Amino acid sequence: MITVMKFGGTSVGSPEALQRAAKIIMDGAGSKIVVASAMSGITNFLVKGAESLPDSRNNIIGEFEKKHVDAAGQLLNGEQMAEFMKEFNIRMKNFGDLLEDEAAAKDPYFKDNITSQGERFSTLILSHALRAAGARSVALTSEDCGICAEGSPLSGSADLQRTESIMAMKVKPYVDDGVIPIITGFYGINGDGRPLTFGRGGSDYSAAVVANAMNADLLEIWTDVDGFMSADPRIIPDAVKIDEMNFGEAAELAYFGAKVLHPRTIEPVRMKHIPLKVRNSFNPEEPGTIIHHLRKPKDDLLRSVALKTDLSIISISSAEIAFHPEMVARIIEKIAENEVVIYSISTSLSTVAFLVHNNDVKSILSKLNTLDPEDIERIDVKSDMALVCAVGDNLLSKCGVSAEIFTAVKEARANVAMISEGASDVSLNFVVPMSRATDVVKILHSKYVGSGSDERL
Ligand code: ADP
Ligand code: ASP
Ligand code: MG
Repeated sequence: MITVMKFGGTSVGSPEALQRAAKIIMDGAGSKIVVASAMSGITNFLVKGAESLPDSRNNIIGEFEKKHVDAAGQLLNGEQMAEFMKEFNIRMKNFGDLLEDEAAAKDPYFKDNITSQGERFSTLILSHALRAAGARSVALTSEDCGICAEGSPLSGSADLQRTESIMAMKVKPYVDDGVIPIITGFYGINGDGRPLTFGRGGSDYSAAVVANAMNADLLEIWTDVDGFMSADPRIIPDAVKIDEMNFGEAAELAYFGAKVLHPRTIEPVRMKHIPLKVRNSFNPEEPGTIIHHLRKPKDDLLRSVALKTDLSIISISSAEIAFHPEMVARIIEKIAENEVVIYSISTSLSTVAFLVHNNDVKSILSKLNTLDPEDIERIDVKSDMALVCAVGDNLLSKCGVSAEIFTAVKEARANVAMISEGASDVSLNFVVPMSRATDVVKILHSKYVGSGSDERL
């Protein structure tokens, strides 16, 4: 039995957290492979520092070094610390050199390289903490393991096939030998051997990629909440934990804003039928949420609701566009040139509307402006919108459920700007202004989570 265990930033964010993580790993059954995020706060610190290089160099090095050496110092005794410092100094020297390298700073993947540094050090401490506790462990970077990535800076995707064949050579021998590899999350290596990150929160995806590559039996995502909840507990303090979900539900919710899993975590494990558990490293007694292929149907109207903010609707009007699919194709081609994510599309007789991130609007408009002006009557943009993703067994199958949901939305005094129902077989998605979105989630949650649909309808 092989379990891939992923520890997020807060789960390795302090000496106490690292110690808890080490105990969870040692207590786990069978062979274990660990993927870890940077210590909490470190990636944000690096993102910010990278903005003001070279001036920020000394500050970055000083604070970064102190945080990691202090944490290690509290976990390791004199001899263990000396061993740790040997590896630490090599990694720190490489990092210091990178921050001084003017040619590297011009590379489009420079920010990927800087922001992924935290993972190289959290994994080193965790591996040494395990050794100090008597386990055999090795800290491996994504370079060491051959986690292969492709795509644009800051938004890479894994090359699953190549990763699988390289990891079989570089990582499997350790596992077979009873050594616990502690692997850097968040980034892979592109075709030129340069670090390429998987987007913020990407260590969940890294862990799913490792689980896929190593044909694991289970992926455990250890985080700071009891499991996948009925809503973001920061918005809904009385959100409840969901015991069991299927891959489709979790994938939709993660994609549309449930931050507990990186949007792309599900696919690599779903492909190989590897179950995923979301568990709390601060409360390891709690069994968490299991996400797998099966699910017993429940009669709740709403099981979980997610919110994706900072979106814009770009509406393109053109006479009878519905009768000109080639026109729609040209518009989509233009938008695709920017490699942006389109969260929803809706059409009417003379309008086609796209839901995209606020940050992508400018570049999309500049592409759309290259279309023949004869073809386009008008382009409108509504910014600061939010997409609400509601998942529940009976949402799409029971008559009258949408009416109930939209009545609740009306109570939150929100205008629905776009709806997507039926595109997914598990979720009902709609767009409201960001200013009303939290109220919409609160009302939906208080009315329908845990409510049996049969009693209601
Ligand atoms: P990690 O550092 O372990 O990756 P994250 O902060 O990325 O942790 O994700 C965990 C956080 O996700 C939780 O603390 C919670 O605030 C947030 N979250 C958002 N939606 C959900 C949800 N549906 N269920 C659980 N947590 C959620
Ligand atoms: N450290 C990275 C981030 O903060 C990746 C992760 O934590 O998943 O985005
Ligand atoms: Mg995360």
